[in-house]
Amino acid sequence: MEDSFRHKGLRKKLVEEIRKKGITDEQVLTAISKVPRHLFMESGFINFSYKDSAFPIGAGQTISQPYTVAFQTELLQVSPMDKVLEIGTGSGYQAAILVEMGAKVFTIERQRELFVKAKSQLEGLGYYPHFFYGDGYLGMPSYGPYKRILVTAGAPSVPTKLIEQLEVGGRMVIPVGDGSGQDMIVIEKISDTETKTTNHGRFIFVPLLKGTNK
Ligand code: SAH
Repeated sequence: MEDSFRHKGLRKKLVEEIRKKGITDEQVLTAISKVPRHLFMESGFINFSYKDSAFPIGAGQTISQPYTVAFQTELLQVSPMDKVLEIGTGSGYQAAILVEMGAKVFTIERQRELFVKAKSQLEGLGYYPHFFYGDGYLGMPSYGPYKRILVTAGAPSVPTKLIEQLEVGGRMVIPVGDGSGQDMIVIEKISDTETKTTNHGRFIFVPLLKGTNK
């Protein structure tokens, strides 16, 4: 499938909808206007690609709602060349947004099926983050520390390994809570031993799970 004028038009509308919902970061909105979300969707849902909703992507997982992607990305405050670690590659859509914004992206997925699919899909579109199949609870210390860490699944608590892999001065965005919903938490690493935490409201994500799944 291609990226047609019709798709571009639908994306423009989606961007306006997200802007109305409160997203102001133009870099984020521009990235959303560029990444063809319909190429990250399961075939049965393609017609809904530019609806501001989450949809199934296989393996019991979902592609996040575009507003949520925009909200998390805005909170992350990404600049070109920033080293960003994403936990939960899923469809690869969020990783594509970060690459589009000029970040050096490292993304981890625990479901092999999704890891394989997202990697070939993104590379086919010319997006080249570093892909890893593994458990995001452990992060990816060999490439760290990271200036930004983005968790796209709901974590019962903040994994200590991720705080360790965050640069001093760095920032992590992570939904924290149980299955009934999560608080969108921003953690700023002030020094090796101090962090500052702020809460940015309620969201619902699929859970961050331990280990990997073949
Ligand atoms: N960022 C994704 C959102 C996918 S939903 C997108 O843009 O489509 C969250 C993803 O996190 C799921 O694919 C799930 O399999 C993955 N996940 C859950 N726990 C994980 C863990 N411990 N390590 C890595 N990925 C995990």
